[in-house]
Amino acid sequence: MRRLYNTFLAVGRVRSTSCLAFCLTARQETRSQAERIRIAQRRFQLSKIIYIYILKGGDGGVSILVVGSVALDTVETPFTKVEETLGGAASYFTTAASLYNQVNLVAIVGSDFPREHLDFWRNRPVNLVGLQIKEGRTFRWKARYHMDMNARDTLDTQLGVYAGFHPIIPDKYRSSKLLFLANIQPELQMEVLEQVSNANLTVLDTMELWIMTTRPQLTEVIKRVDVLLMSEEEIRQYTNRLSIVAGVHQLLDMGLQYVVVKQGSYGALLFGADGTFFSAPTYPLEEVIDPTGAGDAFAGGLLGYLSKVEPQQDGHYAIDEIKCGVVHGNIIGSYVCEDFSIDRLRTLTMDDVATRYRRLVEYSHFDPNWRSRRA
Ligand code: AMP
Repeated sequence: MRRLYNTFLAVGRVRSTSCLAFCLTARQETRSQAERIRIAQRRFQLSKIIYIYILKGGDGGVSILVVGSVALDTVETPFTKVEETLGGAASYFTTAASLYNQVNLVAIVGSDFPREHLDFWRNRPVNLVGLQIKEGRTFRWKARYHMDMNARDTLDTQLGVYAGFHPIIPDKYRSSKLLFLANIQPELQMEVLEQVSNANLTVLDTMELWIMTTRPQLTEVIKRVDVLLMSEEEIRQYTNRLSIVAGVHQLLDMGLQYVVVKQGSYGALLFGADGTFFSAPTYPLEEVIDPTGAGDAFAGGLLGYLSKVEPQQDGHYAIDEIKCGVVHGNIIGSYVCEDFSIDRLRTLTMDDVATRYRRLVEYSHFDPNWRSRRA
């Protein structure tokens, strides 16, 4: 028994609570009363740690809830075209964030949705309980990029099964601490907010279509979230301000904690209601194959990173952690552009992310001591 107990300690890994209980009981047989109490107390502490470990998804941090589109995209760049490839805002986000932690996906696909994509997610820490599969066609989106790949035209959008979609958040996801409202109709985003009320951080993404067609509904959603992601163009459209900074201040006045301005190949800007400003550097890519989903992958990097961070006592994240999350977002976004669809994310590792992180630190570091000229 004693040897078994010592082996257990040497291995240093808790495989299961029952194994732990067995080993502790074995040792207890040879102990005095006082020692037994001490061991029982330690045992209680250990089971508490194991309980928290399991609750937080197994390797620290909290799981992430995402609601948004899962699609089949057809994308044309000036050089190539891919048809009916895995797309959708939630797909990019889920794949990116699952590099860091468990992701709970709530979305809908049609009966024509290829099984291989589901199998791919099943092999990652992605929970598909909230993914509805309905008779009908999956959401389809077609776009063409310009020579300047920061600009694109949407050629076709077919809602398919999204036309009758209402997000149903499974009970066990309703207390999620990190929520990403990926790009879908603002009415549906509001339905999600009605079901998830206890998150530490809610992040919202949107697009030109909703600014143009459902502005009042979008406004109501913006008033209820903590962080808004928008491109410069979307900020101008929504606020009618030419100046991005003025537009951001107008948005912050609606009650947001942060606005992140996505600048495509130029990086991202973070503005806080507390006056924070942070310019996250961009990674200089030699070749952009397809920038689709870079914004959603950015959000995946941001929330993926934060899912590993302990929030402060008030439930908010320290500003340095938010900044670090934005840098992670930039890095994941840059990787997505290196291939079509989510393909680059399939093989991406945390080591790749770390390499690019170190490069960005190097590229954006400069002498913090001001002087007018060299001495
Ligand atoms: P991004 O490049 O970050 O704007 O994300 C592009 C992704 O958004 C594509 O994979 C599309 O399938 C998806 N998408 C495009 N239009 C819509 C829409 N109206 N609603 C939801 N998702 C959309």
